[in-house]
Amino acid sequence: MAPAQNPISSKHVAVIGAGASGLIAARELHREGHTVVVFEREKQVGGLWIYSPKAESDPLSLDPTRLIVHSSVYESLRTNLPRECMGFRDYPFVPREDDLSRDSRRYPSHREVLAYLQDFAREFKIEEMVRFETEVVRVEPVDGKWRVRSKNSADLSDDEIFDAVVVCNGHYTEPYVATISGINSWPGKHIHSHNYRVPGPFKNEVVVVIGNFASGADISRDVAKVAKEVHIASRGSEANTYEKLSVPTNNLWIHSEIETACEDGSIIFKNGKAVHADSVVYCTGYKYKFPFLETNGYMSIDDNRVEPLYKHVFPPALAPGLSFIGLPGMGIQFVMFEIQSKWVAAVLSGRVTLPSPEKMMEDLIASYAMLDALGIPKRHTHKLGKIESKYLDRVAEESGCPLVEPWRVQQVERGYKRLVSNPENYRDEWDDNDLIEEAYEDFARKRLISSRPSYFPESGR
Ligand code: FAD
Repeated sequence: MAPAQNPISSKHVAVIGAGASGLIAARELHREGHTVVVFEREKQVGGLWIYSPKAESDPLSLDPTRLIVHSSVYESLRTNLPRECMGFRDYPFVPREDDLSRDSRRYPSHREVLAYLQDFAREFKIEEMVRFETEVVRVEPVDGKWRVRSKNSADLSDDEIFDAVVVCNGHYTEPYVATISGINSWPGKHIHSHNYRVPGPFKNEVVVVIGNFASGADISRDVAKVAKEVHIASRGSEANTYEKLSVPTNNLWIHSEIETACEDGSIIFKNGKAVHADSVVYCTGYKYKFPFLETNGYMSIDDNRVEPLYKHVFPPALAPGLSFIGLPGMGIQFVMFEIQSKWVAAVLSGRVTLPSPEKMMEDLIASYAMLDALGIPKRHTHKLGKIESKYLDRVAEESGCPLVEPWRVQQVERGYKRLVSNPENYRDEWDDNDLIEEAYEDFARKRLISSRPSYFPESGR
């Protein structure tokens, strides 16, 4: 951690978004002594976790005039991380077994995550800082400060000046639609997972699902409950892959990638197999988008790399007035939001100083060169994968907060291994009771809990 050079000061900070990242940013900024206004275009906190049965009118979300639905959550969604490692560090995501309306499972449904975030917001009085139904439409630097233009539900615009802006607008709303040769003349239906809600519309269909990680694995199995056949196109699979899965419904196949789509309705895979499909579901990820941000050309998004961003948080020449929480995807997201937020709050107060803009750029250029040397494409710049825990430790060191507990990292790693080896049941069959034990001991030692969940009765405490 770099020592403070300035007296500690309180700043007037705008936070854009009241999802998990905006809520923790507001909390950390507030406890560092800053005044905070959170802008949220929805009527409630929770962001992605506010399930809406409604999807966008354009199933691929390509029409720029479409009405945007923020959430990408589907009805059957359960978390893809165990709850112990998923929650914020001093507000654990433990089952609320005193309340029968809550979902106490280790991998609970999306409704439980929303309830947890609402509890968190209530506990730390964050809702009082939020302006609901208020969308930020423009953010620009003005004389060393930031002008934020917002529009409320009555369509009234307002300009305000802030010392700093923390961008927490989420990045699972703008679909990335993979390009498939021949798809434009293929006659079937297409949908991106952003607009997938329930399997009903796929009844008796032959469906191709592109992508086989968290959403792809879930959605293919959800659709298979009602579809005639489901064929997964998996980029991670060898070119000759052709495997029928007998579980859960005996109508699911895994193939390699798609070779081409044809006018006669068939989809041909790289393994040489062809299926006559009714629908294609794209579980191919999302793109970063900051439609409100005007930095006079300083920042850009090139092949899904948001640049330049020092440690995925600060644009060197605009720091610390502008920062981004939550850009790196996958892994222990809430904990990453928390550690990044502590860093931003500490830098804004002057308790921690950043390197000079030149040094930050040097660091960034070196990190881009390293990605190049490793053959990692630009579009994966913010995918940390195995280096996530190193990244979190570095940011934690910068902000002077404790490093991530090793049991969290191990829970993520072992959870993902289970997801790959047992996508049907990885949420209900686990082999890491030792890590649950460690988590609850840690919570108890820090006096964050008073009891243990019933799914872990053998602890006897
Ligand atoms: P969001 O939750 O998307 O919140 C952004 C907020 O900003 C929204 O409320 C939005 O309305 C608001 N906003 C956007 N633009 C504006 C504007 N211009 N003005 C005002 N408000 C604005 N993570 C996990 O840890 N565990 C999981 O199991 C898990 N499952 C996932 C499943 C799916 C299908 C997806 C897509 C992601 C999943 N994630 C999971 C990752 C998840 O995105 C993060 O956990 C986290 O909830 C994202 O929080 P966020 O605050 O960054 O974004």
